[in-house]
Amino acid sequence: DTDRLLTTSRRPEDVDAALRPKSLEDFVGQKAARENLRIFIHAARERGDALDHVLFFGPPGLGKTTLAQIIAREMGVGFRATSGPVIAKSGDLAALLTNLEDGDVLFIDEIHRLQPAVEEVLYPAMEDRALDLMIGEGPSARSVRIDLPRFTLVGATTRQGLITTPLRDRFGIPVRLQFYTVDELEQVVRRAAGLLDLPISPDGAREIGRRARGTPRIAGRLLRRVRDFANFAGAAIVDEKVADAALNRLEVDGLGLDAMDRRYLHMIADIYRGGPVGVETLAAGLSEPRDTVEEVIEPYLIQLGLIARTARGRCLNARGWKHLGLNPPPEAGQ
Ligand code: ADP
Repeated sequence: DTDRLLTTSRRPEDVDAALRPKSLEDFVGQKAARENLRIFIHAARERGDALDHVLFFGPPGLGKTTLAQIIAREMGVGFRATSGPVIAKSGDLAALLTNLEDGDVLFIDEIHRLQPAVEEVLYPAMEDRALDLMIGEGPSARSVRIDLPRFTLVGATTRQGLITTPLRDRFGIPVRLQFYTVDELEQVVRRAAGLLDLPISPDGAREIGRRARGTPRIAGRLLRRVRDFANFAGAAIVDEKVADAALNRLEVDGLGLDAMDRRYLHMIADIYRGGPVGVETLAAGLSEPRDTVEEVIEPYLIQLGLIARTARGRCLNARGWKHLGLNPPPEAGQ
């Protein structure tokens, strides 16, 4: 369902771009990651070297692409972006690498989806800044090594466990991004409202932040939709009341869950009596790819303590039953 309001996927037109922070200074939250990056960037600049390769992992919409762009800007180098699934052949990656300028940041989104043969090209590139090419065929075939410019590979993936160990080991700077707190999201909303020239009260910004699923991309999307409602209602300022009414109309509930989240929870509750139920079964029931269930829907529900991932499958926690306004069946184990 591509029209899902709380979708974390990127749209082709990338409406997010206008709201992207341009410097570490401007980037809200992720304090530990931000501080570390500041130190590593400073040190690399002092040495006049490229920054070590960086791997970002965490759910969609938390700022991985934004941080990759900020790294390039703060290092004062060029930025090239691609993604795992679009690099079909090792030759495509070789072409990309040989076209880099000295010091460039190469951003590979969804790096866990690289073909194995393509991934192997990355190993010497990351380690020795070299490309091993086979020339000729048969007995006369030989391998030649081509030197590459200095560059920083920035990889992004939704979960660290998805990428192979040899690839993961070649990143000097692994960075885990966390869901944002309500305070941080309130700040994201106020900043975005400023950029959109939209009058908003502190409690209005907080209400949107509270219901943004811990995710800045969603905060930005909700803000735009609330703006439409405020416009329509002729409200001069987005306050808590306006935000609440708009979000209710959008079927975003008090915890920030949307219709898909509630369908997920109801499926475990109503059909599987609270679980455990396998993720494949849930994905089939929701007509969503398993990846989407595991990487987009579940992480936030787990963070809220509504569900648990167990070895035998997914279970609804007491909080999950409570949020649905239901009682667990008497014999269900928690
Ligand atoms: P990811 O690559 O992790 O999916 P993005 O970097 O594309 O996420 O971020 C999505 C959008 O959310 C950005 O365009 C930006 O508008 C907003 N955003 C992300 N992180 C922040 C932040 N820390 N502060 C303010 N806005 C942010």
